[in-house]
Amino acid sequence: MCKKKNKVRQARVLYLYSIQEGKCYYCGCHCSLLTHDQHEGKKPPDNMATLEHLYDHWDLRRPFMDQLPDRVKFAMACYKCNQQRGIDRFKKLELQHRIRVFDIKQFLYAQSEK
Ligand SMILES: [Zn+2]
Repeated sequence: MCKKKNKVRQARVLYLYSIQEGKCYYCGCHCSLLTHDQHEGKKPPDNMATLEHLYDHWDLRRPFMDQLPDRVKFAMACYKCNQQRGIDRFKKLELQHRIRVFDIKQFLYAQSEK
C-alpha cells in the first residue's frame, strides 16, 4: 500500500478509535493502536485496531457512497473480527452477486474514462 493511503487509513483508525473509546465495533474488546508495519510481516495480534468498511467490497451501495462522512462508512474493529467478517461474508455470497458487483465497477470505470 502506498504511504499516502496508509496515512489516511491510520488517521481514520485514530479518529474512530477515539469516538469508539478504543473498543471493537463488533466484540467490544479493547483494541491496540499498532500498525501493520510494526509486525514486520508477522500475523498481527487479534486485538489490533483495523479500519472496517461497513459497506464492504461486495456491497452494491459502496461505489455510490463517496460523499458520506467517515463515521458512516467505517468503523474500527479488532483484527480478528475484521478478518472473520470478511471470510463469513464471502462464503455467503452467491456467484451472481459477485458478478453484479464486478459489472457495476466496470460500468463506473468506463464512465469515468469518458
Ligand atoms: Zn472484535
